[in-house]
Amino acid sequence: MDNPEKMAHVEPVRLNKDSKFRFKCHQGVKCFTECCRDINIILTPYDIIRLKNRMELSSDDFLTIYTEPQILEKTDLPVITLKLLEAEGADTDSKACPFVREDGCLVYADRPTTCRYYPLGVASLSHKEDPDGDEFYFFVHEPHCLGFEEDADWTVAEWRKDQGVDVHDRINAAWTDLLVRKRSFPPNMKLTDQTKKMFFLASYNIDKFREFVFESSFLKRYKVDAGTVEKIKADEIELLQFGMRWLKWLLFKEGDFEVIEG
Ligand code: SF4
Ligand code: SF4
Repeated sequence: MDNPEKMAHVEPVRLNKDSKFRFKCHQGVKCFTECCRDINIILTPYDIIRLKNRMELSSDDFLTIYTEPQILEKTDLPVITLKLLEAEGADTDSKACPFVREDGCLVYADRPTTCRYYPLGVASLSHKEDPDGDEFYFFVHEPHCLGFEEDADWTVAEWRKDQGVDVHDRINAAWTDLLVRKRSFPPNMKLTDQTKKMFFLASYNIDKFREFVFESSFLKRYKVDAGTVEKIKADEIELLQFGMRWLKWLLFKEGDFEVIEG
């Protein structure tokens, strides 16, 4: 259960890329790692790829050990969240991220998109293909976070670049677009369980998706040119992007996927 004292307060201020704010986070702050407890972190497809590689696990094992599935409100689509653990030495029912240590984040260089954005959040207003397009930002103000009292000045654009979040957003753009677009559909437009399973596979379980593409009849059912086959065989990010194009076709019958007749 959420601890009311720690619940995030989302400020109703719409920020754009030029909005300014003052913030700094470092080991010397009294609240160091407080923000890594009692949180709900949705992992993007690229987050999962980076984290499973960092932990030297298959995507299947990473999902089993470190994550929990949820259905994202208003989309009927599965998302993945980090599975929190009982916080060490805690005398409450506080729970913490499995990667938090006394001296900080164990996976800092590969930390998830949400952690990079913090203390900002991002919202997409409508369907978009352009990762720099129709979106806005807001402050996630948690009472324990003292970073706003520090003395470094940023614009939102500078913060995103500094935290490496622009790279994550670019790679995740097609996946974000699927969620935003599905959310705009009437709630009674339900997906089949099989479609949701395919969404999960292509979005979050890249190793099993690779098996599905190369070891099932997939390449006999869809026209995929030889250059693309080589690229998705060699590169996980190319495979992820290919998976998103396929999902777009599967969910919305849009895009350049072609079924082989017969
Ligand atoms: S991944 Fe790292 S930064 Fe993010 S909540 Fe966990 S410990 Fe904190
Ligand atoms: S609560 Fe805020 S200042 Fe404290 S460690 Fe987390 S981000 Fe940094």
